[in-house]
Amino acid sequence: MPKVRCHWCVVILLGLLWSNASFAARPNVIFIMSDDHAYQAIGAYGSALNTTPHIDRLAAEGVRFDRCYVTDSICGPSRATMLTGRYGAHHGVRDNYTEFDGSQTTFPKLLQRAGYQTAMIGKWHLGSEPTGFDHWDILPGQGKYYRPDFLSPAGKREEPGYVTDVITRLTLEWLRAGRDAERPFALLMHHKAPHRPWNPGVDHLGETAARTFPEPATLRDDYATRSAAARDAEMRITQMRLSPDLKTWAPDDGHRQWLYKHMTAEERAAWEQRIDPRLAEYQQLNPQGDAKLRWMYQHYLRDYLECIAGVDDSVGAVLDYLDESGLADNTIVVYTSDQGFYLGEHGWFDKRMMYEQSLRTPLVVRWPGVARAGAVETRIASNVDFAETFLDAAGVEPPPEMQGRSLRPLLTGEPAPDWRTSFYYHYYEGRQRDHAVYKHEGVTTGRHKLIRFYPINAWELYDLQADPQEVANKYGDPAYAEVQAELTAELQRLRTELRIPAP
Ligand code: CA
Repeated sequence: MPKVRCHWCVVILLGLLWSNASFAARPNVIFIMSDDHAYQAIGAYGSALNTTPHIDRLAAEGVRFDRCYVTDSICGPSRATMLTGRYGAHHGVRDNYTEFDGSQTTFPKLLQRAGYQTAMIGKWHLGSEPTGFDHWDILPGQGKYYRPDFLSPAGKREEPGYVTDVITRLTLEWLRAGRDAERPFALLMHHKAPHRPWNPGVDHLGETAARTFPEPATLRDDYATRSAAARDAEMRITQMRLSPDLKTWAPDDGHRQWLYKHMTAEERAAWEQRIDPRLAEYQQLNPQGDAKLRWMYQHYLRDYLECIAGVDDSVGAVLDYLDESGLADNTIVVYTSDQGFYLGEHGWFDKRMMYEQSLRTPLVVRWPGVARAGAVETRIASNVDFAETFLDAAGVEPPPEMQGRSLRPLLTGEPAPDWRTSFYYHYYEGRQRDHAVYKHEGVTTGRHKLIRFYPINAWELYDLQADPQEVANKYGDPAYAEVQAELTAELQRLRTELRIPAP
């Protein structure tokens, strides 16, 4: 009998050793996401507008993805896709007005089950409360830029300060003292910035005031070759509001008063000094026509890019913590946005459309020992792949209903002959909601793109090599008949494969 007991002791001991070893070997995950951060505004993506030294450092130490496409270029649907690894037709969030059904399988739940500690800090924007997290502390709804409310299982409270800084502080607090240091963790730090109305923190407020930003080639797009969809969309820079979007406001302006009410005296003094003079400047210039477009574009970019400077600081603070704590070598760090954004291309701000600037989201992944340092990957990745990538890192088998694939081969650079060469997109929110963009679906190969705005039965076809600005619709052009037929068939094939009902 003693012999048998001893045998079991060894088995248990070995089991414990193995589980500890496997915990130690499994990498941590820090998934940083911002809201509406265009790749055109990231140094590592060749930005002509700004520098982002900390995101660039991640790119230099990891892989930059140049074709990371979102399944639906809008906040809620995109977030639900990242959590579930599924398209909107299946996770159910097809617009920003639908609550996420939190009983679904998500990667945080599966990681939690596998022994990971899971935490979600910052913008959630899915209506229902988070599920699958040991710790969550989120902005209710869109959240506020100054003195934001936070919602946690303990209830709602206010936090003084600027939202990006508060999210960073709460993240570092959890990393330093809120977790069990013996177990791997997956932390989602999701920023509100640089979402509309683009309110920067005071440490960056006004720092771009003396700059003049280059204008994109399509700022004055006349939509000449396209369907009615581009013309009918209401997201032109000239359709922005002088207040609050462009902060051209009088002292009694309601938006100004509401914003300033949430500031400390110091924050308010900085805004009064650096932002309030805009109204006098605008009145003095009294810009009309093209001068007004130029004025609006420049001020839009100032506010937007100053918000991003704060997000980049946050990335730097997290990377510093990983270096100081010794965790850097065993932690995957992802930087992405919930979708891309227009910075004046086609005359627009916002997203939704399947054109490149909003279809493509920035994605940078540092994964020591796996991701090639400084590599640029052009194979087609997607936010539908994130869940399975994290599961793969943790050694967890993905459930069959997930529709993406681990990005591991794209990170290591190994060939993956059966990797996707086309991608299906579907924007569901529709014209009745914000910005009047028609519902549409489409397919892209990275070289060619077919879009169908189905409520008006309008088709567009682009040759992204000959026409990277997407201003020449080739649908119906005999020279593109073959491409058009191939993409039309591919659209149908992908819809069937992904089990998405025909619209
Ligand atoms: Ca967004």
